Amino acid sequence: MDYRALDVERVHADTLLDGLRRPLHDLRISVTDRCNLRCTYCMPREIFDENHAYLPRSELLTFEEIERLAGLFIRLGVRKIRLTGGEPLLRHGIEQLIEKLARRQTAEGVPVEIALTTNGVLLARKAQSLKDAGLSRVTVSLDGLSNATFQRMSGSEVAVATVLEGIAAARTAGLGPVKVNMVVKRGANEHEILPMAEHFRHSGIVLRFIEFMDVGTSNGWRMDDVVPAREILDRIAVCHPLEQLDPHYSGEVAERWRYADGAGEVGVIASVTHAFCNECSRVRLATDGRLYTCLFASEGLDLRAPLRQGEGDRVLTNLIADCWGRRSDQYSQLRHAATGEAASQVKKVEMSYIGG
Ligand code: SF4
Repeated sequence: MDYRALDVERVHADTLLDGLRRPLHDLRISVTDRCNLRCTYCMPREIFDENHAYLPRSELLTFEEIERLAGLFIRLGVRKIRLTGGEPLLRHGIEQLIEKLARRQTAEGVPVEIALTTNGVLLARKAQSLKDAGLSRVTVSLDGLSNATFQRMSGSEVAVATVLEGIAAARTAGLGPVKVNMVVKRGANEHEILPMAEHFRHSGIVLRFIEFMDVGTSNGWRMDDVVPAREILDRIAVCHPLEQLDPHYSGEVAERWRYADGAGEVGVIASVTHAFCNECSRVRLATDGRLYTCLFASEGLDLRAPLRQGEGDRVLTNLIADCWGRRSDQYSQLRHAATGEAASQVKKVEMSYIGG
């Protein structure tokens, strides 16, 4: 379809499919490349050390620019916006951005869920103001219950209690259903799979286990360090039998499981052993305005330049629609086919820059 002649007002969700006929549904917006933790699988401290240069403020999209782009994505079919980072709660005035996005979705006249993924360190003091600003719900990263494991995984001295207080505050503020994500890495925290599962049973919080992924080029990923989703589920089911649930919607990232005794739900995000590219409806906007069509992409489309050159909505929408229309990403599905020197040489974008 030639979008250049299209009237942007009339573009409908079901007309915009990528090269593999996947619709555009989820927009992930990284609002900062800064973080107050140094998780080993994302921003290992030995690489992202005290000399690490973050993007200068002038290169970050402003809230007005993010809101404008979000409006265009909503017209193109986006129905879920997730704010990420780095650590999004470090972006000063994040509540104002959420207010703008909430107003924008109302103006566009379609229901759009606004969610946020955080490491929870600042959540206890911000949960209510995020909710008041219009945030729908949060997902909190927590890779262990013991301080020893959590601090090793997060490269920090933050106490687990701080993150648990954030989770409790999010629930009190009504930012739910709250989800908790745990990245599992062999030799680092697989011994905490069952304690984490048991901690969140009967809590109403959905705990999702994420297979360690080869995101970016900094985390020293090896297949040997991956604990497959099947093993994670088996470790829990030994004590607490599980039953599989259907996905909420096509393209949902996590496989859903419920405790047979009714104690709640867990999930697994199995990008390595059970890839889900066939239904991937996600696009990522980096904090400096580059658009990435895959978490494992190397190149992104610069939207900041045309924005700051004063291009109109039609040009920007056509750029986005063309980019999505030409998309054929399925990195995880092809991961194992891409072996040898060539594969390891691919310079993939860092997760701390485009968000998970
Ligand atoms: S690897 Fe890329 S295409 Fe596949 S599910 Fe992840 S983001 Fe989507």
